Amino acid sequence: MSDPRRALATLDGQVIDRRRFLAFTGALAGAAAFAQLRGDLGYAAPPLKGYPFRLGVASGDPLPGGVSLWTRLAPEPLVNGGGMPPKDIAVQWQVATDEGFANVVRSGTVAAIPELAHSVHVDVRGLNPATGYFYRFVTANDASPVGRTRTAPAARAAVPGLRFAFASCQKWDDGFYTPYRHMAEEDLQLVIHLGDYIYEYGVGSGGVRGATVPTFLGKECFTLDRYRLQYGLYKTDPDLQEVHRLFPWAVTWDDHEVDNDYSGIYPEFDTTSNWFLKRRAAAYQAWFEHMPVPLSSKPGRDETRVYRRIAYGDIAEFNMLDTRQYRTDNPCGDGEQPPCDGGFDPSATMTGDTQEAWLLDNLERSNSRWNVIAQGVLMGQLKHDADGGRFWNDSWDGWPGQRQRVLQHIADAGVGNPVVITGDWHSTFVNDLKADYEDENAPVVATEFVGTSISSNGDCICYGPYYGPMIPFNPDIKFFDGDRRGYVLCTLDHDRWRTDLRMVPTVSTRDAPVSTFASFVVEDGTPGAVQV
Ligand code: FE
Ligand code: CA
Repeated sequence: MSDPRRALATLDGQVIDRRRFLAFTGALAGAAAFAQLRGDLGYAAPPLKGYPFRLGVASGDPLPGGVSLWTRLAPEPLVNGGGMPPKDIAVQWQVATDEGFANVVRSGTVAAIPELAHSVHVDVRGLNPATGYFYRFVTANDASPVGRTRTAPAARAAVPGLRFAFASCQKWDDGFYTPYRHMAEEDLQLVIHLGDYIYEYGVGSGGVRGATVPTFLGKECFTLDRYRLQYGLYKTDPDLQEVHRLFPWAVTWDDHEVDNDYSGIYPEFDTTSNWFLKRRAAAYQAWFEHMPVPLSSKPGRDETRVYRRIAYGDIAEFNMLDTRQYRTDNPCGDGEQPPCDGGFDPSATMTGDTQEAWLLDNLERSNSRWNVIAQGVLMGQLKHDADGGRFWNDSWDGWPGQRQRVLQHIADAGVGNPVVITGDWHSTFVNDLKADYEDENAPVVATEFVGTSISSNGDCICYGPYYGPMIPFNPDIKFFDGDRRGYVLCTLDHDRWRTDLRMVPTVSTRDAPVSTFASFVVEDGTPGAVQV
């Protein structure tokens, strides 16, 4: 394959002159205007097989003066190549202060190239802080739906409040995205996704959604084409598309974007990595192609940079972690296992040393009221029996030495109001986090909220009966629910963090209602959540 990085680097810079562009755009006399643009840029504009914006639009990673925009041209998302010709296609992007695009403030043209599945990523800069904008994409004959987004407040600006939601684990064939349907109705400045955006498994027809899907989707994802088809399938969901269209997202990943319970370069139950690296590279590329992440998250030769910081003035900083790519292999084995000395080996790491140093440095230097660590897997300890004889080793319980080191550093540095938000478990936990779980009297260092799945596990009453009886062995777990689906709504001011667990009774229908199942607050200066 040709090197997509190089292609993008050359083509990104071709931003057209804004004044000339404005003269073109009246009210989407787009096609004519675009023909002229096309001539300027020398792109071919073959007729497409259908409407190219069937996977919607998205924005992400708000900055004080910018945001990243995403779309992908795919008139046939469930066909290899998305139904696109194997050619570069010019795509115009526009950012306006009004929904009718009378006042376009930033615009440009980029190439959607087949090497990147005709995905489009634009890092828009030069916007105002804490401001709402509208955006869209235009090809020769079509315009995308109009997206809405919002930039972050200026660095260190006084920000009285912030509301965001977080979600994870959306296995398409386990249920409708009913929680997203309700999330779209919330008043949010940000949506955070903590991983398992797709699952790598084959998908069949029928099931809860009663949908007919092509038989080739029955095969598990191993190749780039197959991972792309999986994103194509998932992103056809209208409720998921709508939440992307309405709010900027900040996404990280967990295991199922690649393969169940993998660790770094090692698949589950395996200590050889040759074939797995090829699979992982395909999965990482497909992830980039479908996420509203900045160009800095484009897969590079040595890594795909997913960990990053997103700040909202003086009220909150989000440290987006990558708890998969840099893992050492599970020191005490895969799955449910007894603890072992290797878990405290200083070389055993969930994040890699570079990311750990970056995180601790961010936390130490932050002056934000709330310091959020947004990451994949359960950080609090979960003993599976009374004497701690078994743990789930894919979560931080498999790397207890690094957990202790990180939490001790947070305590020693006096980090202000650390709150960990987590996905993965298809269950809700509210946890007190401690540096030393061996010491019953150890102080609470931070608060953890683990959000349940959007759809994974569907309506199965599976995890309550299995994990519920373990909770009494774990006094630091203040709340657990294993069987409800939903999302987590967080409302912050300078005195208080409030978490509302927004749950639906079923994901077997699209239109089930939502309600707040339980609410918790964390008071400024007092780690540990209290149910209200
Ligand atoms: Fe999951
Ligand atoms: Ca997971």
